[in-house]
Amino acid sequence: MFNLILFGPPGSGKGTQSDRLVEKYGLIHLSTGNLLREEIANKTPLGKEAKKFIDHGQLVPDEVVIGMVDSFFDRHKNVNGFLFDGFPRTVAQAQALDKLLALKKTDIASVLALEVTEQELINRLLNRGKTSGRSDDNSEDVIRKRFIVYTNETSPVADYYKKARKFKAIHGEGSVDEINAALRQAIDKAMANHKD
Ligand code: ADP
Repeated sequence: MFNLILFGPPGSGKGTQSDRLVEKYGLIHLSTGNLLREEIANKTPLGKEAKKFIDHGQLVPDEVVIGMVDSFFDRHKNVNGFLFDGFPRTVAQAQALDKLLALKKTDIASVLALEVTEQELINRLLNRGKTSGRSDDNSEDVIRKRFIVYTNETSPVADYYKKARKFKAIHGEGSVDEINAALRQAIDKAMANHKD
């Protein structure tokens, strides 16, 4: 298997790029944000609980997210690999992911991190909020809260993968095609070096 993490702050383009990359490389897209929004749309107990956190720009508790990923794995066996988008977002989630992958006798091949300035991120998110219908993209306060949470809880995940020598920064500004080309170049290199 070849498993990849697309890392980066809210609005950095993970979702847009993931859609293209999973098609190109035949990977399964695992976006915890999308899974949570499906739970909310279906009005499940998990969705109702998660909505309280999401609407305040906070992270959904680790055990909820990890449980959701575990059950996603149960539904997707014998696949080429996964592209993780918006997960892991805490060091505890990264450690849990390593354990779940070890049970499948695989690991993370590479973490590609999209780097975008904060002002550009805010502009993108406010723009997305006009059409996405996402309650967490409408308010600048909630967006700012998500950045604070990202700095405090999610950026340590970058150090976790730097220590494991799996982390690669990618310039995340420019056209969607340019960024996609930079990602593909990094993925092709990681695939050439990966043995599983
Ligand atoms: P973005 O990266 O634009 O913030 P996502 O769709 O990845 O969008 O996530 C939206 C919200 O869902 C997050 O702000 C958070 O509340 C929740 N969420 C998504 N993934 C996770 C996760 N791995 N751990 C905790 N909360 C999550």
